[in-house]
Amino acid sequence: MIKNPEPSESFEQARAYAGKTIDLLLTHRIAPSPPHYAVGYTYWSGGVSEIRRTLDEMLQAGRSLDELLLRDLYDRFIVPDQFDRYRGMRSGLQQILQAMLQALQTASCGAAEFRDVLETNIRHLGAEPDAQTLQAIAAELLSAATLANERNQHLQHDLVTTQKEMETLRDELEQHRRAAMIDPLTGLFNRRAMQQLLQDLLAEDPPPPLTMLLLDIDHFKHINDSYGHAVGDVVIRHVADTLRKSIRGEDIGVRYGGEEFIVLLPRTGLEGAVTVAEAIRGRVAALRLVRRQDNYALDPFTISIGVAERRHDDDQESLFHRADQALYLSKSEGRNRVTAETRLACQVSPEGPGGTTPQT
Ligand code: GH3
Ligand code: MG
Ligand code: MG
Repeated sequence: MIKNPEPSESFEQARAYAGKTIDLLLTHRIAPSPPHYAVGYTYWSGGVSEIRRTLDEMLQAGRSLDELLLRDLYDRFIVPDQFDRYRGMRSGLQQILQAMLQALQTASCGAAEFRDVLETNIRHLGAEPDAQTLQAIAAELLSAATLANERNQHLQHDLVTTQKEMETLRDELEQHRRAAMIDPLTGLFNRRAMQQLLQDLLAEDPPPPLTMLLLDIDHFKHINDSYGHAVGDVVIRHVADTLRKSIRGEDIGVRYGGEEFIVLLPRTGLEGAVTVAEAIRGRVAALRLVRRQDNYALDPFTISIGVAERRHDDDQESLFHRADQALYLSKSEGRNRVTAETRLACQVSPEGPGGTTPQT
């Protein structure tokens, strides 16, 4: 969408676009903020035909441009509105600004040198009796060059400021993007992030081994009822910490909802996944929590886990469904256990742990 200045776009050309963009914005009394600037530059460089056509129509009809129109063009044609296109948008704008900055820094130096050369030549010309006319022309050129230099310096200053704003914006976007993926209570990925990550894993070609653990705290309602919701939250956090400590860097720990968790284990087969699941289960069962305010020792608690391995024709739902069925079996067989999907052949239940969980 964004047309970056290409290497073949000469320095002179890029500088001309920059100057024309600033002139256009100032003529129409539009602030040269990054979005407006980007639209103007794109208009002159011809990167997006819709922007070129719309502005041409307006200008040919003698109508003035306004910030609303430019913002609209910016939103529609320059800013991709997809969540996962942030990065491209940011780096594209940044490249434009960096290229412009570089061009203007060079321009500024060039103008200063030009002035030095003219000054030297004027001194030489002063020695000649018939140099008066030439001297006047040279003096005029000097003032023109000085003016151009000043203008460039202003423009350069503006662009440095703009670049700083862009960097701040990029950092903020990154923070928002991360916040949108993380569950605030546990610091694990949330369900939405997992869906994106799982989609990427399922799309890998050739497909690597991939297993899913679905974990659910046993009788969690009872924990809440006995000790209160706040303690329930602490229990959720401890399970999350245990899970985090039990997996490797490449593995993906997720708080799927309430007291349910998922672990995705890329490049791990069913056997390895069951080992990881057993380790998590054992560590959670061994946790001993003490309520700080009165040193009251909470009853131990447990989790149940279902394990499924990705098949070649799996989508997210089918893989999750088998993990859910395996979890159901763990619950129905007494909880505090790990069940692999290989045991599902004869035991089928359509409902998951949040639905018709078996009671004991
Ligand atoms: P089971 O062994 O069959 O899984 O029993 P359970 O009591 O854990 O089952 P159920 O899924 O019915 O109960 C989950 C409870 O978790 C219900 C809900 O009030 C509670 N819960 C969901 N989210 C949170 C949360 O963020 N914090 C706390 N403290 N409780 C939550
Ligand atoms: Mg539960
Ligand atoms: Mg549950």
